Amino acid sequence: PNEITVGELASRMKKSPAEIIKKLMLLGIMATVNETLDFDTASLMVEEFGGIVEKEIILTDEEILFDDFEDTAEQLKPRSPVVVVMGHVDHGKTSLLDAIRDTNVTEGEFGGITQHIGAHRVRVGEKKITFLDTPGHEAFTAMRARGALVTDIAILVVAADDGIMPQTIEAINHAKAAEVSIIVAINKIDKDGANPDKVKQELMEHGLVPEEWGGDTICVEVSAKKRQNIKELLEMVLLVAEMKELKANPDRKAKGTVIESQLDKGRGSVATVLVQNGTLHVGDYVVAGTASGRVRAMNNDKGKSVKKAGPSIPVEILGLSEVPEGGDEFYVVEDERKARSVVENRKFQEKKEKQKSATAISLDNLFEQI
Ligand code: GDP
Ligand code: MG
Repeated sequence: PNEITVGELASRMKKSPAEIIKKLMLLGIMATVNETLDFDTASLMVEEFGGIVEKEIILTDEEILFDDFEDTAEQLKPRSPVVVVMGHVDHGKTSLLDAIRDTNVTEGEFGGITQHIGAHRVRVGEKKITFLDTPGHEAFTAMRARGALVTDIAILVVAADDGIMPQTIEAINHAKAAEVSIIVAINKIDKDGANPDKVKQELMEHGLVPEEWGGDTICVEVSAKKRQNIKELLEMVLLVAEMKELKANPDRKAKGTVIESQLDKGRGSVATVLVQNGTLHVGDYVVAGTASGRVRAMNNDKGKSVKKAGPSIPVEILGLSEVPEGGDEFYVVEDERKARSVVENRKFQEKKEKQKSATAISLDNLFEQI
C-alpha cells in the first residue's frame, strides 16, 4: 500500500487527525481526514513528529551477496600469504618490518621509497608475501582484533633478552582464536643477555612447542637491527604458506577488507583495501561500510598507479563518497544503483538503531525522575 488516509495515519501515529492536518497545513498541504496521502508525504509526517519510517528496502546485503557463489576447484588459484607482525611493545615489530623492507630493496627488485599505505608486499625469490603494517599502538590493537580475519600467518616477535610478556600472551591468544598460524621470531639475538632457549622454554609453557623440541612451532632467531636471518624468516613464512595451500579466485568481482583510510585534502576519501578474493578494477562500483562509489584510481604499495589488483594485493583506492572504517568489509557490486541501495539501507538501519537507543535513554531518565 503506497497511500494512507490522514485519519488512518493519525491513528497509527497515536495523534489526533487535527494535529496531522495542522502540520500538513504548515507545509502548504490542505487535507481533510479522509484525504489520502502518498508514501513520501506520509513518511514526512512521521518524521516531522520525530518518528521513523520503515522504508521499503530496495535491496538487502543478502540479495547482493546472493551472487556470492562458491568458487570451484578449477577457479581457485594460489595466492600469496597475508602476514601480520605481533608482539610485546619494544620487542622489535617496527624494526623487523623495516628490516624486511630493506632486505627487499637491497635485492634491487623494487627500488625507490615505499609508499605508506598500511600494507606492503615483498618478493622472496619467485614468491611474494603481503605484510599488514601496524603503525601506532592503537592501530596495532585494532588491527590485531580485526586483522585476525584477514591474516593467514602471524609473526610473533619475542625479544630474546626479555622473553614472553603480557602482550606476547595476548597476541598468542588472538592468533589461536583466529586459527592463524604462528611463526616465532626470536629477536635481538645480537644483544648481550639474549637467551633464545629461555624464550623457547616460555613458549612451551604457553602451548607453543618449538620444532626442534618435537613440536610444530617454527622459531627463527633473528636480529632486526643487524639484519640477521631475515631471509630465513621469510622463507619459513613461505613454507608455512605452502602447507596452508592458500587459494582464491581471481576471476570474480572483488571482495576484501579496509586496512586503513583517511580524508585527504586534495584527493578526498582514500582507503587502503586488501583484496581477498576476486580482482578489483579501476571503474568498479564498491561498497565499504556506509561508503560507496566508483574506483577512480588505484595505487599499489610502491606508489605506482595500477589498473587492477588481485587476491592478497593491497591497494589504495580513490573515489569513495565517504571514509570507510578500518576493518570494514568491501565488495564490488554491478552498478551504482546497487551500491547506493546498500549504503542507504545501512544508514537507515544505523539511524534506527541510534533512535532506538536514544529512546531507551530517555525512558531511563524518566524512570530515574520517578
Ligand atoms: P616495537 O615497539 O615492537 O615496534 O619495537 P621497535 O621496533 O620500535 O624496537 C624497540 C627498540 O628495540 C628500538 O630501540 C630498537 O632499535 C631496538 N631493537 C629492535 N630490534 C633489535 C635487535 O634486533 N637488536 C637490538 N640490539 N635492538 C633492537
Ligand atoms: Mg612499533
